[in-house]
Amino acid sequence: APGLTLVSTPIGNARDITLRALDVLGTADVLAAEDTRALRRLMEIHGISLGDRPCLAYHDHNGAKMRPRLLAELAAGKSVAYCSEAGTPLVSDPGFDLVRAAQEAGHPVTAAPGASAAVAALTLSGLASDRFLFAGFLPNQKGARDRALDELAAVPATLVLYESPRRIGATLAAAATRLGAARRAVVARELTKRFEEVRRGTLADLAETYADVSPKGEVVLLVARGDSGNVREEDVDRELAAALETMSVRDAADH
Ligand code: SAM
Repeated sequence: APGLTLVSTPIGNARDITLRALDVLGTADVLAAEDTRALRRLMEIHGISLGDRPCLAYHDHNGAKMRPRLLAELAAGKSVAYCSEAGTPLVSDPGFDLVRAAQEAGHPVTAAPGASAAVAALTLSGLASDRFLFAGFLPNQKGARDRALDELAAVPATLVLYESPRRIGATLAAAATRLGAARRAVVARELTKRFEEVRRGTLADLAETYADVSPKGEVVLLVARGDSGNVREEDVDRELAAALETMSVRDAADH
């Protein structure tokens, strides 16, 4: 069918791809990928030949230049499949501007959904999964990172964050300070891969574990929803004042 299809690809294990995704990759008129080599390798593993179809690179650095080309293909009634390097496109990955532009030009946009590290990590974390906030990558710069953590501190949901192995130690230390050292957390590493590993503990425990080790591979950090042990002092003061107010009103009525 003409239009743009966002195709999710595996986050590690090459077999984590849907039958429909393989169909789309096998039949789309034009393929576009953040990493064309990774896409070609994946297609090869699954026995899908590219033939003489174009396989175009579309990533953060050439998006503005490539968008008109892809929009022209869509305008010509072609089907275009887009994959990011791994997992679901647009989830801490490129594709957003392309989706917007395709929709604005009136082209159909659909998804062939599949793996995403955020959801995989949430499901095996053992943390509450009824309500979660995906916060992507925190800013690199320390001030901005701490402000972002302060914003997240009061969110009543499990937090899901992406991080690079190089920064996980520093991020855990900052999270322990800004979100509460006693909060439960999980580091999920190398999901779906041979050395998959899930570590649980408080933010303080995990900050210590990763203090001077940069783990190998990719990691997702999850933080449990804060409980009453993490309420902010000003909130307690406000609630106390409100309670005292009610009590004095009742006292006055009694007399
Ligand atoms: N679009 C991808 C998705 O849907 O999960 C995410 C791309 S983002 C650039 C890469 C980050 O995702 C990594 O830094 C890591 O936090 C997380 N990630 C991706 N694959 C992973 C895996 N196999 N195990 C753990 N984390 C992973």
